[in-house]
Amino acid sequence: MPIQNLHSDIPRKRIALFGSTGSIGTQALEVIRDHLNLFSVEILTAQNNDELLVKQALEFEPNMVVIGDDKKFNKVKEALKNTHVKVFGGEQALEEVAALDAYDVMLAAIVGFAGLKPTLKAVENGKTIALANKETLVVAGDIVMQKAVEKRVPVIPVDSEHSAIFQCLVGETRNRIEKVILTASGGPFLGKKPNFLVNVKRDHALQHPNWTMGAKISIDSATLMNKGLEMIEAKWLFNLKPEQVHVVVHPQSIIHSLVQFEDGSIKAQMGLPDMKLPIQYALSFPQRLANKFPRYDFKRPGQLTFEEPDTKTFRNLVLATEALFKGGNTPCVLNAANEIAVYAFLRNRIGFLDMTDLIERTMQHVPFIEKPALEEYFESDAEARNFAASLIKL
Ligand code: NDP
Ligand code: MG
Repeated sequence: MPIQNLHSDIPRKRIALFGSTGSIGTQALEVIRDHLNLFSVEILTAQNNDELLVKQALEFEPNMVVIGDDKKFNKVKEALKNTHVKVFGGEQALEEVAALDAYDVMLAAIVGFAGLKPTLKAVENGKTIALANKETLVVAGDIVMQKAVEKRVPVIPVDSEHSAIFQCLVGETRNRIEKVILTASGGPFLGKKPNFLVNVKRDHALQHPNWTMGAKISIDSATLMNKGLEMIEAKWLFNLKPEQVHVVVHPQSIIHSLVQFEDGSIKAQMGLPDMKLPIQYALSFPQRLANKFPRYDFKRPGQLTFEEPDTKTFRNLVLATEALFKGGNTPCVLNAANEIAVYAFLRNRIGFLDMTDLIERTMQHVPFIEKPALEEYFESDAEARNFAASLIKL
């Protein structure tokens, strides 16, 4: 049964869910299922998982679906032939559908660089973005945010840390931020040293202590690259200088991030680690919606602890910080090399620590561009991918 709430007179927001079959995508559909009086699903997209896409389409009856892998197009079309759902296939269709007027909010939940083009198209199309795909801002944050300002498009973070900062900043538009502090769980290998990490395999690295997520971000969390990408994401989302972005390890993941203002006052946003909350907030903003998610209980014994990240061991955080400060195409190169490294690690082609070496060597190889045009970001991405792949022995 949908949960009743106070906002039933508001017209339903039409949601385009890009990456509907992923961890964020499926949790977003759980949120929407509880609030069908507020949200309608207009667009669903997947890359390979045609079966889940069809199942979702039969339940939510969107206007259209896109299956990225062209080879699965006929199968999806056949499965939905007795419905009104329009079916599109291929990478190009993602952008074409993003350019349509059929929705109000894009939930950008594709993983990796692949999310950039459709998200940029939605911004150009004047659509509100609920942003999970952090790589979009890591790669081309200046262009995406500049376009968002021009088009007066709100970019509302879904990433839990950035949602926390966003929530802390509500009502504070005129007040200067001294710094933001991103909390990091530390991942499954918190406290471990290189002599342990050298032997780590994919299945172990995929076991995150606090969150269940897609494979790529799970590995990024284990290497701390995720926090590095989030530092760059924070810079663009909140228009910060690199030196205003800080990280603290907080293994319990109860405080989702903090903002310190110029008077020294610190605001934090807290709650149990559950992505459904930031997803729901991004979709319903500026309203909050009643829900039945479990609550954090201060009366239960437990400690909230904080420590410095171990950057000697988890050097990805150093590389990402370097990219944050250097700017230009460096974050784009870092991201591309990282995607190749994670892909290779997930297929047991390189070791856990090799990922950092691969990224570092790629960053040294690709020429620096201070103010890249969009095409130059695409070229830097391709060059970094090719070089990183060439370092992996077949
Ligand atoms: P998943 O891997 O679980 O899902 C990715 C989604 O994108 C799937 O729908 C997948 O389709 C689709 N997809 C994959 N590759 C492509 C491609 N080349 N072109 C188009 N679509 C593609 O990822 P998550 O849901 O974990 O993460 C999504 C984004 O959200 C990432 O950027 C991540 O960093 C961010 N994020 C995730 C969090 C989480 O808790 N999971 C938390 C904070 C941020 P298919 O299933 O068919 O392969
Ligand atoms: Mg996060």
